[in-house]
Amino acid sequence: METIVFDIGETLVRDDRLWAAWADWLGVPPHTVSALVGAAVTQGRDSADALRVLRPGMDVTEAYGARVAAGRGDHLGERDLYPDVRPALAELRALGLRVIVAGNRSARAGELLRALDLPADLVVTSEEWGVAKPDHAFFERVLDVAGAPAHATLYVGDHPADDLFPARSCGLRAAHIRRGPYGHWWADHPDVTRTADWCVDALTDLPALIAADRTAGQGDDRTGPDAVHDGTPADTADPPAHNCPPLAGSR
Ligand SMILES: [Mg+2]
Repeated sequence: METIVFDIGETLVRDDRLWAAWADWLGVPPHTVSALVGAAVTQGRDSADALRVLRPGMDVTEAYGARVAAGRGDHLGERDLYPDVRPALAELRALGLRVIVAGNRSARAGELLRALDLPADLVVTSEEWGVAKPDHAFFERVLDVAGAPAHATLYVGDHPADDLFPARSCGLRAAHIRRGPYGHWWADHPDVTRTADWCVDALTDLPALIAADRTAGQGDDRTGPDAVHDGTPADTADPPAHNCPPLAGSR
């Protein structure tokens, strides 16, 4: 493993304020938005569908533009970071890995993240690239900046359909984190446990897993994924019992 790339929402940062800001903009209680996001998550749908339930036909990009124009765009600061972010990224860098943050967020969110001076070599967002996950073109951009071949690049995210499946389809290795609504709900789904190279509970689980992987000499000799996905998990029923691959030391 040479490069590790992190999703942003609910991988590095908690999305409380993101959804609360939408609730405030739409004039509904935060819990209403959160509950609707949860409904979308369990159905494997885009979480932004929660907003479209409240405002049928809503163009989310356009609506976000209106928020920005009103001075009510994204806020992102140190308090939004999960507490394991800084220690995990620093330890991964100490292992000699190139650390990249690349996820679906606004350009403004990218500016705010870079201002946090994370221990990362590059921080970039989908709006800055002009392409968003799960589009495979996003992962091609990831590989453009990875400085490593796909099989030596690990993408880490909470969202099966946006992170895990397209990353693996593009030849990257992928880790799923049980964090946030998608991460918790889908962690035990067989499509996730079968597709993920690793399933973790915390970012600080990653350095030891990668170090062990290097020791085992598996970094350049992996087999292909059991299944290639390009959409939401096939079975959107109740998550089954957890059954993560044995590579996952933490879970
Ligand atoms: Mg995410």
